Amino acid sequence: MSTAADRARSESPTQAPPRLDLRAAAGSGIFEYAPAPESVRPAIADRYGLFINGRFTDPTSSKRFTTINPATEQTLAEIAEANEQDVDAAVKAARAALPAWSALPGKERAKYLYRIARRLQERARELAVLETMDGGKPIKESRDVDIPLAAAHFFHHAGWADKLQYAFPGREPKPVGVCGQIIPWNFPLLMAAWKIAPAIACGNTVVLKPAETTPLTALRLAEICAEIGLPPGVVNIVTGAGATGAAIVNHPGIDKIAFTGSTEVGKLIARAVAPTRKRLTLELGGKSANIIFEDASIDQAVEGIVEGIYFNQGHVCCAGSRLFVQESILDTVIAKLRDRMRTLRVGDPLDKNTDVGAINSKAQLATIEKYLESGAEEGAERHDCGSGELPAKGYFCRPCFFTGVQPSHAIAREEIFGPVLAVMSFRTPEEAISRANNTPFGLAAGVWTDKGSKIFDTARRLDAGVVWLNTYNKFDPTSPFGGFKESGFGREGGRHGLSAYLA
Ligand code: NAP
Ligand code: MG
Repeated sequence: MSTAADRARSESPTQAPPRLDLRAAAGSGIFEYAPAPESVRPAIADRYGLFINGRFTDPTSSKRFTTINPATEQTLAEIAEANEQDVDAAVKAARAALPAWSALPGKERAKYLYRIARRLQERARELAVLETMDGGKPIKESRDVDIPLAAAHFFHHAGWADKLQYAFPGREPKPVGVCGQIIPWNFPLLMAAWKIAPAIACGNTVVLKPAETTPLTALRLAEICAEIGLPPGVVNIVTGAGATGAAIVNHPGIDKIAFTGSTEVGKLIARAVAPTRKRLTLELGGKSANIIFEDASIDQAVEGIVEGIYFNQGHVCCAGSRLFVQESILDTVIAKLRDRMRTLRVGDPLDKNTDVGAINSKAQLATIEKYLESGAEEGAERHDCGSGELPAKGYFCRPCFFTGVQPSHAIAREEIFGPVLAVMSFRTPEEAISRANNTPFGLAAGVWTDKGSKIFDTARRLDAGVVWLNTYNKFDPTSPFGGFKESGFGREGGRHGLSAYLA
């Protein structure tokens, strides 16, 4: 049976279907590409206030500091410095908001978290560019990792808000109260999402302090909270340096401290909180090991190692900064690593082809350089990588790896927090495990092998909060993340992460 269209075609076989005028269509906007993320320059105010009780206010001391773009050394904005009085006002606002917020049915709280998540998605380009400008990380990472994961954390926890009794059967879930949250500069918006989303999903209210060098996206998140009508006082964001963080830690009106940062400051906080009734979770530093067995798929492993150390310029607490390679494949791995690493592009973080962006601050660059010197002084051999000249301005560091590293070398023991990898070898699985565990830290590890039994045996015996198998640096809101030993205690993400925000 022929249709009218078939008949029409057979009647005029040479007549071509009408052509789309592509030029006219492009002009009308139908086929235009969305602008590249880096071409959307977010508006940045000259100065920012403190976000307390749903409004931006000036700091009582009128003191301000500047945040810069580490890739250009240009000042981006003046940021308010909160003192004890400002922190007190934020804690009071959080306390006042607590009864109504915690009494709200979970499904109503969830609606606010969903709205925040959606706004993060809608404003993703602006947030990605801002994150890159304020912190120096490559735009492809802020665009593809930081911002989507931050939104995912709000979505995930929105889903839990009305199901807490199912997450913890037999327990009547109650919020802890007012939470003081202090975060570092390596994943500014993502760390804010990791902290705020579970806290408010469980009915807590928060006072959060972003790091001094990267406050801008947390302040955008404050704007979003106001924009979506989050009740005033549920989220308060106070900017400042270490003293502002200490004021939060020491405030008697805080019920729980959640801290992500260095082990050094984590220990100070643990001491300050010990004589109080405050609850505490600490996500601290790391010196994570990647172990490659001789039966691993070497090309795949090399990709994972590169990802593990050069992602975010190595400013990653769980960076795979120690590499243990089985002796029989050491030369092959080093050769492949050198070839792969040569291709890394170092430079302008706003260029979407950049792999390694700017080091977050001058101080951090100096720390990394100190370790580069110590590696050479202690007798290890440095292999510089990355293509192209380093930009003349800004804080940049060529990624590198060291061979001939001894376990006693500082570069093998201490957290560098930069794109520097220490390569070592091992003979037996026993030796790999004992050397990987021979560190005061215990945040993460990677195991590369073709053998399922070896995977499970090794993972079980590694003292690390996260063990990635034939992959590295994979994050998901459903997976708990946290450390062993001096990498801290408590988990963020998953059901374990929720538990930390329930009494
Ligand atoms: P940091 O110096 O410990 O700072 C972290 C946060 O604490 C910042 O907001 C900082 O403020 C604040 N702070 C500083 N001194 C304080 C004090 N005495 N009391 C209260 N707060 C204080 O760490 P960082 O150098 O920013 O970050 C890098 C470290 O964080 C690395 O060691 C890394 O491994 C760790 N980290 C861990 C994880 C994890 O999940 N385990 C994740 C990310 C980073 P200012 O910045 O304004 O000084
Ligand atoms: Mg900055």
